[in-house]
Amino acid sequence: HIPLVGLTGGIGSGKTLVSDQLGALGAGIIDTDLISHEITASGGSAIPLIKAAFGLEFINATGALNRHQMRKLVFENPDARQTLEGITHPLIRQETAKRALALSKTKAPYLVFSVPLLIESGTWINLIDYLVVVDCPKETQIERVMQRNNLTRNEVEGILNAQASREERLISANAVIENQGDLDSLNKAVLNLHQKLLKIS
Ligand code: ATP
Repeated sequence: HIPLVGLTGGIGSGKTLVSDQLGALGAGIIDTDLISHEITASGGSAIPLIKAAFGLEFINATGALNRHQMRKLVFENPDARQTLEGITHPLIRQETAKRALALSKTKAPYLVFSVPLLIESGTWINLIDYLVVVDCPKETQIERVMQRNNLTRNEVEGILNAQASREERLISANAVIENQGDLDSLNKAVLNLHQKLLKIS
């Protein structure tokens, strides 16, 4: 079957840049973060279920999930987080399977599942044939995310502490993309990775 490559990394490590480039090189990309946004956008398949479980105050005027409100709730309430994930995770898996099937019929030599919390969430690791981890020093992550999301150092450190550590990710990796240099070095590393992935397919 077509190889399934998992792509993960901590916040701000550079997953999106890597998956964009692999996509440009011909890989079939499935971004679970993107799917998660789609199912909670206006008209998304999770919206009626979220409305039923949490009430109308978590849906904004356009019919999309009120992310701000929901983030506040699940941050302080683990049960609410579990309820939300009980709604979204099966829908994300279903949509991922649908896209994987469609992409497996194209010329893509391999599929990339980009999953931010691949190590943390457990189920994905059993599906994939090969795990790629994007890695950079913690300080680099902090600087990038402070700048990109306009957050304080404390806020970024809070997010980092809730994720798997670099070590926990690296231990499961079949390949590591070091992304601590400039974009040129990243592009070269991704091209190398692509050549390697073509050989396993
Ligand atoms: P998240 O998990 O938060 O979605 P991510 O792992 O997808 O993050 P990216 O969005 O690809 O990471 O990168 C984070 C930010 O850092 C982006 O603004 C990106 O442009 C920048 N960045 C990443 N790598 C580099 C690099 N090598 N040189 C310069 N900027 C970079």
